[in-house]
Formats: sequence, C-alpha cells, structure tokens
Amino acid sequence: MSFVTLGLNRYLLYAIEKQYYTHPYPIQERVIPQILKGKDLLGIAQTGSGKTASYVLPTLQLLQGKAVAKNRHINTLVLVPTRELAIQVQKVYKSFNDHLEQGIKYLAVYGGVSINPQMMDLQGVEILVATPGRLIELLEKNALYLNEVELLVLDEADKMLNLGFKDEMTTILNLLPKKRQNLLFSATLSSDLGAIQALILQNPITVEIEAETQNIDLITQLAYAVEDLKKGPLLRYLIKHHQMNQVLVFASSVHRADAIADKLSNNGYSAMAMHSKKSQGARENALYKFKSGDIQVLVATDLMSRGIDIPFLPFVINYELPRSPKDYIHRIGRTGRAENAGTAISFVNKEEQHHFGIIQKKIKKQVVLSNTDEIDLKGL
Ligand code: AMP
Repeated sequence: MSFVTLGLNRYLLYAIEKQYYTHPYPIQERVIPQILKGKDLLGIAQTGSGKTASYVLPTLQLLQGKAVAKNRHINTLVLVPTRELAIQVQKVYKSFNDHLEQGIKYLAVYGGVSINPQMMDLQGVEILVATPGRLIELLEKNALYLNEVELLVLDEADKMLNLGFKDEMTTILNLLPKKRQNLLFSATLSSDLGAIQALILQNPITVEIEAETQNIDLITQLAYAVEDLKKGPLLRYLIKHHQMNQVLVFASSVHRADAIADKLSNNGYSAMAMHSKKSQGARENALYKFKSGDIQVLVATDLMSRGIDIPFLPFVINYELPRSPKDYIHRIGRTGRAENAGTAISFVNKEEQHHFGIIQKKIKKQVVLSNTDEIDLKGL
C-alpha cells in the first residue's frame, strides 16, 4: 500500500516524501480516506501508531484551496490533554505544512505560558491545537470564536476524560456549531468514552488498531526482583552495564521522580525529572535536553508516558510499577516506536510481584523475573 492510493493530493504527497515516510501505517491507511470523505470517525490507536499524521495530513488537505476563514474564526480545532502533546502535534503540522505550496496557518495554545503572545499569534489561524483550559481562557477574552469550526479532533480522548476535563469539554462543545465533522482518537475504549462518543459522533466509522500488541512485540521486556533499597544501585548498574546513553525511567509519583533524578545526579549521571509539578519551561527543557542527548536519564511520571514521541528511544525502566496494565503498556511503548526495537526493564519488589503477574496476564506476555542476588551492586 502506498500513500498515493489514499486520496491525498500531490502537494501532501510531496510533503510526505520529505518526511521519508515510505508507506502509510495501518491507522493512516484506514483513516485518511474516511476523513477526506468527511466522515465522523472513532480511532482506537495509541501514540506510536502514527495516529497524529493520520489526521494532520487530511485536515491540511481539506483546507487546501479553501477560502480562508474570517479572522479569529478557526476552521479546525484539535483538542489535546497536555501541553506536551499540543507542542508535538504542532510539530507534526509544521513538518508537513512547511512543504506545501499553499501553507495553512496553524497554532498550538496551551497553559503554563503567557497568554498574550498566543492571543497575538491567533491572527489568521485556521487550525488550532489546544488544551481545553487555555482554549477557554482565550474564548473568555474573545481572542477567538468557535462558531465556524467545521472539524473537531479530540486526541487522546480517554486521557482527557481521566484528567477531568468534562466540564471544560461541555463548555467547548456548546460553543461549536452542531454541523461539523468529528474525529475522536483514543488509546482505549472506556465506558466514559462511550458517553462522549455518543455526544459528538454521528454514524462514525470505527477503526481499531492493535498497536499496543504490535508495539509490544518489538520490545524486549525484562524484569528484576529487587528490594526497594537496592533499586538505586541496580539502576546505576544497568545504566553502566548496558551503556545506556538515553534511558527513560518511570517513577510512581512526582516526589519519587525528583528523588530518583537527584540521586542519579549525586552519583554523577546527567539526569532530570519531568512531571506535572515542574513549570512548562522546565518540562520542555528537560525533554529537549533528553531528546538531543544532553542528558542521559529522564525520570518521569505516568502523565508523561503518553503522547511523548521520542524516536529511537532504546531503553525504558519502570523503577516502580504503574498501577494499571494500560499504563504499563503506555510506558514501555515509549520504546519500540515506529517499528524500532527497544528494551523495557521493570524493577519488581516483593509487594509488586502479584501485581506484575496481573500485568503480564493482561498484556498476554510472560516476562522472566530475574534474580538480582548474583549482580554485584557493591560500590554503586
Ligand atoms: P504518533 O503515533 O503519531 O505519535 O507517531 C509515531 C511516530 O511514527 C512518529 O515519530 C512519526 O513521525 C512516525 N510515523 C508516523 N507515520 C509514519 C509513516 N507512515 N512512516 C514512518 N514513520 C511514521
């Protein structure tokens, strides 16, 4: 299958070529033609499946050659749960739009940074990527209007519901015109999602991509039975032993993430923590430094396990197990992305062993729990 058969015009095909995408991923193959036909769509696919391009490409095409909307009356609204995802989606728009003959004006708006520059940048914007909170702030300031929106995308809709955006979503939905195209993407099909799905989608086409299992097949999963006191030394041993130049470590809380990053720094490793209590600037800085190889270890909480795209990340370590198997999948899915192999290592203490069994059952994969007794952790 090639991108040519999906109904994309030559400008978009040229932009795709410039990204060196040789063939569409399954989600793109199934979703792009439907979006171009104007259908409502429910896409069950997680980050790593290529879902962003699956809506970015057709939403750019739908605006090609179309008369520009009235100033501050956006045409396409993409709602996302986190600032990081907003920035990432904006980058994907940029990567394609830069190569179009007739570029479309797009913008990402999110909280945690000053609102004024965003208000100025809204001039002439046709595609807006937004987190709900900041969008509402902008609406309250009459910085933009939603009454001419023709297409709504909800990305990571399940996460949006988890993060308690219900009231904000209701406010936003009430401001949108009734007649519009709706695209809803979610990693899971939860019952909460059912409610919002019924609310916004009209006779939707449902596309489900089992990216989770596909992804997992590419990931080597290892686990160590280790008591809490030895987790720190074991982490340092593994970083050394596997010569990990880029490793994402997951912690169970903000406090734990800070403590793990501090301990690593004290031991001479370049490490930073990234979590919801850090300022937007600090989060972006940490992610940028990690992606560019300036720091070796990024310690993150589960909020960060979604939506963050780090191509070719070789190692993920669960310093503490996540509560849900879903989060486990999201965490380890940060490696083994875009058809690359990766390694995910879990630290499992005695209390976590039963829970680890449940995770394995859920993901239908057995992971060997190795003993750490034989590893020499002295001096680490
Ligand atoms: P996403 O699920 O949207 O976060 O995308 C995951 C990664 O896959 C990103 O790094 C994309 O650049 C990459 N990607 C998406 N579609 C393709 C494609 N058709 N060929 C190669 N890489 C792709």
